[in-house]
Amino acid sequence: MSRPGTPGGQPGPQRTTDGASATSEPARAYAELTAGNGRFVSGAPRHPNQDAGHRAAVADGQHPFAVIVGCSDSRLAAEIIFDRGLGDLFVVRTAGHTAGPEVLGSVEYAVTVLGTPLVVVLGHDSCGAVQAARESAETGAQPSGHLRAVVDAVLPSLRRAEAEGVDDIDGIVDIHIAQTVETLLGQSPVLAEAVAQGRCAVVGVSYRLAAGVVRPVTAVPSGLASLDVPNAATDPAAA
Ligand SMILES: [Zn+2]
Repeated sequence: MSRPGTPGGQPGPQRTTDGASATSEPARAYAELTAGNGRFVSGAPRHPNQDAGHRAAVADGQHPFAVIVGCSDSRLAAEIIFDRGLGDLFVVRTAGHTAGPEVLGSVEYAVTVLGTPLVVVLGHDSCGAVQAARESAETGAQPSGHLRAVVDAVLPSLRRAEAEGVDDIDGIVDIHIAQTVETLLGQSPVLAEAVAQGRCAVVGVSYRLAAGVVRPVTAVPSGLASLDVPNAATDPAAA
């Protein structure tokens, strides 16, 4: 597939990273996302691949360089916070970035059919789905309708947080992000195989609503997120 950011459109920024694995497709894709987030945070987005010419160019096929499994929160629009455009990101969103069968199937489609080299689990501070699950766990009250399915999907992360002695909401969100990464890899042998072969990586990141900054929480393989040097997520001036 094409280098991230180049499929028939405006190339993303060139990044310099150290280490041999920095040249891998998953590492380049992750660097592309953090660079875009850095542009967004610093107030200098390029809005790449959003023009009519690019729209026509990608009409015949898509080669997204990252899958985003994100929360549905209206303040978490992937193409905006990563400063990307049409054909760049394959986005799957549910309240609380849960990983049910349709989500797993969508991820597997991107990784196996489209050859996407990176899966990113995108959570955020003050997540309403996590707060709802916490409330349900504390009071024993069951939410009505299908909202219960969302809460039930988040509850294992609440139990894990309790076992680890974590009780602040953002710490629980980090655990839920890591839990979602583990669920994707544990429930999808196809994804786990792609990661084992180096064709794909899975990274969990947390987004801060007010600052707009994305921070890595976990990565498989573990070295991938640390390749982000300089770290656009924490140093907007680097982007
Ligand atoms: Zn949320």
